[in-house]
Amino acid sequence: MRILILGGTREARELAHIASGERGNDVVSSLAGRVRDPLLPEGAVRIGGFGGVDGLREWLVANAIEVVIDATHPFAGTISANAAAAAASVDLPLLHLRRPGWSEGPEDAWLRVPDLDAAAATVAGLGDRVFLTIGRQGVGAFAGLTEPWFLIRAIDPPDGDLPPHHELLLARGPFAVDDESRLMASHRINVLVTKDSGGDQTAAKLVAAHAAGIPVVMIDRPALPAEAIVAQNVRDAREWLRAQAASRP
Ligand code: NAP
Repeated sequence: MRILILGGTREARELAHIASGERGNDVVSSLAGRVRDPLLPEGAVRIGGFGGVDGLREWLVANAIEVVIDATHPFAGTISANAAAAAASVDLPLLHLRRPGWSEGPEDAWLRVPDLDAAAATVAGLGDRVFLTIGRQGVGAFAGLTEPWFLIRAIDPPDGDLPPHHELLLARGPFAVDDESRLMASHRINVLVTKDSGGDQTAAKLVAAHAAGIPVVMIDRPALPAEAIVAQNVRDAREWLRAQAASRP
């Protein structure tokens, strides 16, 4: 089968590795091209946007794609919606590979908010030294906040306006709990802001915040289309792919 994997996540790279190794599969991974030095999946890779739903549909047809896996980050809502629309328009099977979100323990007191703007509105009243771990995109939502000081962590520098009082820390996970605890203590952090990305690569900050009694502002994921077929892990995605291959004439 000719498979398109929309990537940018560890799961996408793992699935590209597994699916490429199965006989009869021809896998192409697609990256948006946001990160300067991306971790590349095994096999064929294309980089850059498709040009919306129409561009993606044309690309699927031109490249004779038979199956699409949306293994993008849970917060990459536009490409997931575009994949759903484009795949439906040419009648291709589509699976969304989405790791589960994080869940709050009994002693945690997360403030769940629906989006970045709500997080910015919430954070100011909670503390004066904020650890902002939402990645490179979306930091602009906090740019108008003059009060709290921000430690902003991202892989690459954010574009656009930043809050006036901040320090930028460029780093790529995974991160260990001890290191996160040391980082938060040395910067006297008293609020953590994060997207509900899920997974174990960046969960250590939640453990460290819990241990230090630091409140967490947790930004909820954008919803997937109602009819979406979802696998929560790479193993289930591989099984879905095998079922697709088996059901072909
Ligand atoms: P987005 O808002 O959903 O997508 C914006 C546009 O970027 C899409 O309309 C599409 O452009 C292009 N695009 C996104 N993912 C693509 C892919 N895998 N291949 C080709 N084009 C893609 O996405 P985003 O939040 O900017 O994230 C961009 C990429 O970074 C995603 O692939 C995602 O997996 C990865 N990522 C995102 C986050 C995050 O927090 N958002 C975190 C880690 C990794 P066209 O309309 O021109 O096709």
